[in-house]
Amino acid sequence: MTATELREAILRHLEFSQGKDLAHASLYDMRMALTLAIRDRIIEPWFHATRATYAAQSKRVYYLSMEFLIGRLLEDAILNVGLTEAAHEAVSGLGFDFRDVLNDEPDAALGNGGLGRLAACFLDSMSTLGCPAYGYGIRYEHGLFRQSFGPDGRQVEDAEDWLRQSHGWEFERPEASFRIGFGGSVAESGRSAVWTPENAVMAKAYDTPIVGWQGKWANTLRLWGAEPLRAFDLAAFNKGDFTGAAAPEALARTISRVLYPDDTTAQGKELRLKQEFFFTAASLRDILRRFTSEHSDLRALPSRVAIQMNDTHPAIAGPELIRLLADERGLPFEEAVDTARACLGYTNHTLMPEALERWSESLMAEVLPRHMQIIERIDEMHAKAHPTRKSSILENGEVKMGELSFIMAHRVNGVSALHTELVKSTVFSDLHALHPDRIVNETNGVTPRRWIKGANPRLSSLITETIGEGWEDHLERLTELEPAIETQEFRDRFAAVKAANKADLAEWIGTTMGISVNPDAMFDVQIKRFHEYKRQHLNILETIALWLEMRENPKAGWAPRVKIFGGKAAPGYVMAKEIIHLINNVARVVNADKATRELLTVVYPPNYNVTMAEKLIPAADLSEQISTAGKEASGTGNMKFSLNGALTIGTLDGANVEIRDLVGEENFFLFGMTADEVVERRRHPDHASSAIAESPRLTAAIEAIEAGMFSNGDKAMYRMITQNLRAHDYFTVCADFDSYWDAQRRVDTAWFDRDNWTRMAALNAARTGWFSSDRTIKGYMGDIWNISPMI
Ligand SMILES: *Cc1c(COP(=O)(O)O)cnc(C)c1O
Repeated sequence: MTATELREAILRHLEFSQGKDLAHASLYDMRMALTLAIRDRIIEPWFHATRATYAAQSKRVYYLSMEFLIGRLLEDAILNVGLTEAAHEAVSGLGFDFRDVLNDEPDAALGNGGLGRLAACFLDSMSTLGCPAYGYGIRYEHGLFRQSFGPDGRQVEDAEDWLRQSHGWEFERPEASFRIGFGGSVAESGRSAVWTPENAVMAKAYDTPIVGWQGKWANTLRLWGAEPLRAFDLAAFNKGDFTGAAAPEALARTISRVLYPDDTTAQGKELRLKQEFFFTAASLRDILRRFTSEHSDLRALPSRVAIQMNDTHPAIAGPELIRLLADERGLPFEEAVDTARACLGYTNHTLMPEALERWSESLMAEVLPRHMQIIERIDEMHAKAHPTRKSSILENGEVKMGELSFIMAHRVNGVSALHTELVKSTVFSDLHALHPDRIVNETNGVTPRRWIKGANPRLSSLITETIGEGWEDHLERLTELEPAIETQEFRDRFAAVKAANKADLAEWIGTTMGISVNPDAMFDVQIKRFHEYKRQHLNILETIALWLEMRENPKAGWAPRVKIFGGKAAPGYVMAKEIIHLINNVARVVNADKATRELLTVVYPPNYNVTMAEKLIPAADLSEQISTAGKEASGTGNMKFSLNGALTIGTLDGANVEIRDLVGEENFFLFGMTADEVVERRRHPDHASSAIAESPRLTAAIEAIEAGMFSNGDKAMYRMITQNLRAHDYFTVCADFDSYWDAQRRVDTAWFDRDNWTRMAALNAARTGWFSSDRTIKGYMGDIWNISPMI
């Protein structure tokens, strides 16, 4: 398609879809017209993919995820169909700024963080590889909250309204609607059981096509919206009960109203359980409908259907699939269990006990009475088959969804090499001993189309000019950059790319936050959700210690730094919100200090999301991956940074281990205890206080907070943080502090040899192509799904 043809398509949509002529078109109209013109280009590969899959009777993947953190779709789609230049030309020719049009699209924040972003990167890779697949999730009316900061520096949360304007990408599918029941009773009749739910809602499908690289294939993201069975109670209305008349609607819609804004604690809320069942049950019904339209023998299901459970959120898929096969379609129970298991895979994302979902048996029995019976029966069958087992699904009146998922999946995977070993040796050690072939590792990845090609066009051009075309879907080819990295010319160009990205970011920080930052300083970036295990407080303590020493001795040869933070805290996570509060006030005080103004600036732009990540990562020099070892399952932010030529300061945690192996230890700033050492160190009750006593710098930093230096003299303000550090410090911030400080000074030293820094940064980019999510998806296709690519 040429720019002229695209221009015609845009004008057609302006006129016939938006009902506007060019003279009166708003930015929104232009964005919608461009979206629809691009969407039109995706229909052909989308239909082709559907037809080819039906014709080949191919197996399909169904990726069930509570979260899809897709961000904006327009630029990515334009890139994938190869129309970037044409779109730029067409939009400019119609009198609009192309970037303004792209920036008009809301960021679809249907996820919390890494787990949801992984699902989005997987959709991109499955389409790129021609793996027939559906993503199934919830069409939340309000995605993750919008974050701002109050005048005192505290986090403020507002509802995100991404659907207020029409969103353009999706197709509503009223014909694909399923009735999803809750509660009620079970009647046993002979060998089967009949569940009669007490109430029900409708799940209605909304499809978004997800096109792969070069537009060869497109899969479907099918999100379910909840609707009432009966929208409006006219009888109540006629009696004058206007609120009551709308009650059924309000009740049903709450199910797809909000995304729970916390991925690190399982709260056991009834609405959450209903959400999980809602989207899982609708998806399974859709899957069986598609299967039975082509096949009649349900035992063939595993040869046509691979269902992946992204964490335990869709774990009810096991019991529900058994129920559909046994109760509703007459398969013997044992056979239904085996058939379901052969279809199901389970990805574990965390070892933290507070994040492993458990539901009280009474709640489960109330909301899903038949499923509770099935779970009991699965647990009994498993106990009988493994009389020596120590773990069970049901324990202390609770249903443990991790154990249920493990027992109901034919493969269980961890998300990095270290994490998978810990899955085997800790949470699932007993089940692993009984089923030694079940656990496999699939180290996470990220899509290079969005995270390099789209986010970093300058670097992409340099890569293409150096190694030629075609690296975007063969990212291992980045190693071909290595010989060039040894030339001064390439290093100068690589440094110029970084400098230009930093200049763009500095300008954005200036205009959006009113803070001027030195674009020649080191951009030191920690962006991720706020959690004590991710240790943003370790970073801010080091920042305070650094600032104190800079004031003492400004001429000591410090590397000038801009410390950039980004991330949201769950609204109920008080400690994480206090850390946010502290960072904002450290920024206020440090940035006002004229003595250190040239050496240190702290910036914390609010409302971190995918779009902001795309802006910050290409401009980063240093990537902060400083979690307590053993706690970060993988991380994917770490991969995005390395691929964009940032050096990592990090612990031996999650995929950091594999990043360091690939880039070489000389190109990675390692610090801190290992996972084993952390466990050992915690055995000493004074591990924090002794670390503080032995570190004058840490002592000074904590005392500065306690003296009210960042709270206008209020000594009590941050007591929650400092007392926790002194007394408990489960995440071993204190014990790792000196090691972190020392690593930061090695970073300073390295920074002053700028050409060598550039060399190290470029080697990071060249050696981390393995972290393409294409590689990850190929692993799932081979090890778990048993599916071959269709292109
Ligand atoms: C990649 C990404 C994450 C995951 O970051 P981690 O550092 O791995 O926790 C979270 N949020 C957004 C918006 C991302 O793009």
